[in-house]
Amino acid sequence: VVPIQPQSRNGWVGSNFDAYLIKKDFPILNETVNGKPLIWFDNAATTQKPKAVIDRIAYFYEHENSNIHRAAHELAARASDAYEAAREKVRVFLNAGSVNEIVFVRGATEGVNLVAESWGNHKLVAGDEIIVSHLEHHANIVPWKRLADKKGLKLSVIPVDDDGQILLDEYAKMLNSKTKLVAFTQVSNALGTITPAKQMVDMAHAVGAKVLLDGAQSVSHMKVDVRYLNADWLVFSGHKLFGPTGIGVVYGKEDLLNEMEPYQSGGNMIQDVTFEEIKYHKAPNRFEAGTGNIADAIGLGAAIDYISKIGIEAIGQYEHYLLEYATHLLKQIPGVRLIGTAAEKASVLSFTLDGFTNDEVGKALNREGIAVRTGHHCAQPILRRMGVETTVRPSLAFYNTCQDVDVFIETLWRLKTNK
Ligand code: PLP
Repeated sequence: VVPIQPQSRNGWVGSNFDAYLIKKDFPILNETVNGKPLIWFDNAATTQKPKAVIDRIAYFYEHENSNIHRAAHELAARASDAYEAAREKVRVFLNAGSVNEIVFVRGATEGVNLVAESWGNHKLVAGDEIIVSHLEHHANIVPWKRLADKKGLKLSVIPVDDDGQILLDEYAKMLNSKTKLVAFTQVSNALGTITPAKQMVDMAHAVGAKVLLDGAQSVSHMKVDVRYLNADWLVFSGHKLFGPTGIGVVYGKEDLLNEMEPYQSGGNMIQDVTFEEIKYHKAPNRFEAGTGNIADAIGLGAAIDYISKIGIEAIGQYEHYLLEYATHLLKQIPGVRLIGTAAEKASVLSFTLDGFTNDEVGKALNREGIAVRTGHHCAQPILRRMGVETTVRPSLAFYNTCQDVDVFIETLWRLKTNK
């Protein structure tokens, strides 16, 4: 729990949010890189893990490790209870109506592939239309493009304006009775744009289309309420939510999940097997073939507990403040071009610096212990739309401080003025 500070040492006057205290919960943030304290600004790629998550996973292997659901012994009960408790934590976190709507997968990528295969491949027919946005990560483009090519579907792309925000009027014009699916991100990993998700979902539903929301970059920065948003599916990855790698979630409306074909098949997902006939479980087990990532699902549950104690709304507010602070300072540096300037943004500052390659900037930052991503961020279409192939992309989380931002900005100024 974050103690209330009359005036945060973070310099956020009036805030009760103490990122310095939070930082102490993350052992890796004590690392030094090139003799400097690590500043982790690569949160859009993956987030660091609090000790509570690391300890919970160790506890599982020390006290609970077993396969789940299949045995009468004590450890099977402990492991099954912990796994299902994690599912309930995800349900509460997303405000889903039932645990049957929470499917554990490997991550957001697998989540999109699951929906493309189990729903798209079975329900869509030649001539149907799928819409994605120009902002999408490759994970929310490639499965749809492959499906469209395979089945003769039309794939359309919602354009964005020069700030990197969805053009809602254009989107409205694209929707029609042939539109069967709209798949888009709530937050762009390359630009940080927050899309008007609720409005876009409602517009899609008005023409009878289903909606898949990519929550990979949103769940760690804002309250994501699936009943309010009303999307048919939402996917995210545990590792971007301060949880372990190799675990993620597909939320899907219960009736819809039960209408979908299984994704993979084998043990766990069946009710009854004969050589003549196979009866499948209902969701979520229907989609959880084989032994799943039990320990990391439980670790994800611990991450959700940790975040919930601090409060996702407080996290979002603090990060918004930090992003504004960093944006303001970054813009003062001559030669910085900020890529992605939508009014609604979360966490991400994509930029280029005149006179330097993005790689040079990334290496200069690394010399000071600052980890940022340089490259195309698995979102080539949107970067090309903004007129670049790659950017430098610092991305913030709630354990970052204004002091971290200051070190980052000073390093860029030194780089710029020394050349
Ligand atoms: N969608 C978005 C918006 C992302 O940023 C990412 C990862 O960067 C993904 C999907 C894919 O996530 P994962 O690689 O964890 O499956």
